[in-house]
This record gives sequence, C-alpha cells and structure tokens, in this order.
Amino acid sequence: MKNLRQVELKNKKILLRTDFDVPVSEKGEIKEPFRIKKQKETLDYLISHGAKVVLAAHISDESAGRSFASLVPQLHILLGQEINFIKSVPEIEKYLENHTAPALLENIRQNKGEEKNDQKFAMALSRGFDIYVNNAFAVCHRNHASVSAITKFLPNYAGFLIEDELKNLQNIIDAPKEGKVLIMGGAKASTKIPVIKNFLNKVDKVLIGGVIANDFLKAKGEDIMDSVVDENSLEILAGLDLNNLQLIMPKDFNIFEKKILDIGPETIKEFSKTIKNSRMIIWNGPMGLFEDEKFAEGTRVMAEAIVNSGAVKIAGGGDTISAINRFGMFDKFDFISTGGGAMLSFLAEEELPGLRALGYYDQNDRAKNKN
Ligand code: ADP
Ligand code: MG
Repeated sequence: MKNLRQVELKNKKILLRTDFDVPVSEKGEIKEPFRIKKQKETLDYLISHGAKVVLAAHISDESAGRSFASLVPQLHILLGQEINFIKSVPEIEKYLENHTAPALLENIRQNKGEEKNDQKFAMALSRGFDIYVNNAFAVCHRNHASVSAITKFLPNYAGFLIEDELKNLQNIIDAPKEGKVLIMGGAKASTKIPVIKNFLNKVDKVLIGGVIANDFLKAKGEDIMDSVVDENSLEILAGLDLNNLQLIMPKDFNIFEKKILDIGPETIKEFSKTIKNSRMIIWNGPMGLFEDEKFAEGTRVMAEAIVNSGAVKIAGGGDTISAINRFGMFDKFDFISTGGGAMLSFLAEEELPGLRALGYYDQNDRAKNKN
C-alpha cells in the first residue's frame, strides 16, 4: 500500500471513500457518531495540505431513507468542516471545477454498479479526480466499485484509519491462540458465519448469540418458533461441523411473542464464566435485540463481564459500538474497530477485496516470497 504522507496533495482532486454508515433515530439524528469522527484525521490532513476532497460513502439506515441529504448539517458539526452535497455521480466533475470546499456524494449504493463492482461505473466515478484514498476499513470486505474497481482508474492510497486498524488488528492475530475467545452475535449471518470456519484454529472458543445463534439452532433441527433467521442459513452453515466443541451455543433464552430476542440467565452465567477465564476477547454483534431495554440484558451483562475481566478487550461493528457506548463502556476496551464483518474477516486472515485493491497483499506476498 502506498503511503499518503509521501504524496504531493496541493490542488489535487481527491476521491475519499469514507465510512458514514451510522444508525439514525426516527427524528433524523445520528445516534452513533464514532465512525464519522474516525474519518476526521484523514479528511483534515487532505484539506490542510491543499487538496479538494469529495467523499463517497453508503448509508443503510431506513430512518434516514438511505440518503445523506438530511444528514449533511450534522456531518458539518461532527467533522468541524463545511460539507457540501452532490446528488449524483455525473455532477461531480462540475463540482470539482467550481468549488474548493469538501462535498459528500449521495449514498454510493444508490448506483446500480456499486455493489456489482462494475468497471464502467468505477470509471465514471473516477472522472475529474487525480487520486483515490480509501479510508473505509469497515467496507474493505466488500468487492464494491468504490472500494475495489475504482483503484484500476486512479492512483490509490490507504487513509490513516485503515493503517491504524491494520496495525491494531495484526497485533491481535499475532497474539497466542491460548485463551483467545470470539464472541459473535448480531444479525448479518451471511457475512459472519463463513468467517467462523476460519476462526476455529485461531481461538479456543466461539460464544454465539443473537440471530446467528438462531441460524445454528435451526440447522441443528431445534424449534426456534418465529425467531428471526437468515433465509439462507442452511447454505451458509454448510461445511461447518455444528457439533464442534469450540462452538458454544446459548442454552436458554428470553422469548417474547414466540421470538427469541435475547440470551437467557443460564447462558449469561456460562458465557460470563468463559469470559472471566480468557486472556483475549474479540467481540462483534449484540446478544439480542438490545435496542429494546427488555432485551438488552444479555448484551449488557456480556459487556460488563468483558470489561471486568483481565483479558485484552477488542470490539467492533456498528451496532456493537452503539451498545458499548450506551452502556458507557467505551473507554474500557483496548481497541474498538470501526469494522464488524471487515474486522472479523481480517482477524480470520481472509483476503479482503478492498485491501487487495490497495496492494496490501502484494507487499505481503513479496514478504512471504522472501522468507
Ligand atoms: P454489528 O453492527 O455490531 O456488526 P449486526 O449488524 O450484525 O451487528 O447486528 C445487530 C443487530 O442484530 C441489532 O440491531 C440487534 O437488535 C439485532 N439482533 C440481535 N439479536 C437479535 C435477535 N435475537 N432477534 C432479532 N434481532 C436481533
Ligand atoms: Mg450492524
């Protein structure tokens, strides 16, 4: 990966892939600004060195209508920076000609080519720019046009957030397997479950909760009533030994209207004990529907057990960060990654398309060949 500090930035037009995928309240307020604030260092650096910056990002929150249009004034405050808004890709070139202030492009995933990693779309996106900087670590596990194909059309660099994430996560990979525990919950089974296979030889145990646990239980033939499951959970779980003793499933549940919405008291006790005896904890994904106080107990007590343990504590993922913040435990963790799926994938030593596109593995391949 090329080092951003060595580039001449004065008057350069820069496409900065950022990560602004934050939860938004029904009133339209950004509920969790962590990911946005993490972009500030790189953005400030680019601007203070005289670059013209257009930011590209996606937003999946329904309350915001999957659009940045109404969020721009809040970004302005969070980033301490005037931010304009560009409605669509064809308008970028003209903007770059006529303005110097940074601007945010509307939700990049509104373009059909984005999630298909379409080359033509990436080419259109690159028009008018001199340089591409990827600072969206949390999206690096996606093979999307603004993360991957774009690097074919512009000189490309990793932003400071990606550098920082990789340095911290590499230390976690390098720590011994003994006493390492992965806690996995949340809902994105299709992204998270495939990672488990690659984790089994890297950790002692995997504690499973959230919708992910429902998928396992369903695959094992247990009755999970009307609980939320991933449509393709059986396919996703194929090839994974469901009876592997390293995989620890919840034993009891908090059930409401025939839905499993949190782990139960026995599970909380058992998981807490494992956490207490571990040396390093990697946590991604809430144990239940923690946004509703009635189903937040599992997630809260797990977070307390982690914080009170003597283990090295790492967490990541948008909703996991929201939960940690809500419990006021943010400063008690050793490292908090902006990535959920991307963090897991990197820790499982899978290849991330976004990092591949930046040349990250070329360097590592070279290092391997030397040895
Ligand atoms: P992260 O953003 O931390 O990676 P995910 O996006 O995978 O986590 O999942 C978080 C979501 O999963 C939360 O909105 C939470 O309410 C939901 N969730 C967890 N457990 C359950 C459950 N049993 N039933 C329904 N939703 C759940
Ligand atoms: Mg999430």
